[in-house]
Amino acid sequence: MSEIEECRRTVERVYAFHDGELSAAEVDQIGTHLLACQNCLGEYEIEKAMRVLIKRSCGTSGVPESLHLKIKESLGEIGL
Ligand SMILES: [Zn+2]
Repeated sequence: MSEIEECRRTVERVYAFHDGELSAAEVDQIGTHLLACQNCLGEYEIEKAMRVLIKRSCGTSGVPESLHLKIKESLGEIGL
């Protein structure tokens, strides 16, 4: 498999990963790739940050300013 193909597949699976829909073998594969690939790690971090944001803003009237800043910061840290 080419590197680009592997990245595409990893990014696609990141969503399923966060949903807990992957087998142990798939989680293993993704974990290995994320450790070696900054691009995919970035995708993973964004998806994680978005989920935290969505989860925390559920049942409240809006997203607190401090959380907004925190997400912006973490996106900055991974170079986006
Ligand atoms: Zn990758």
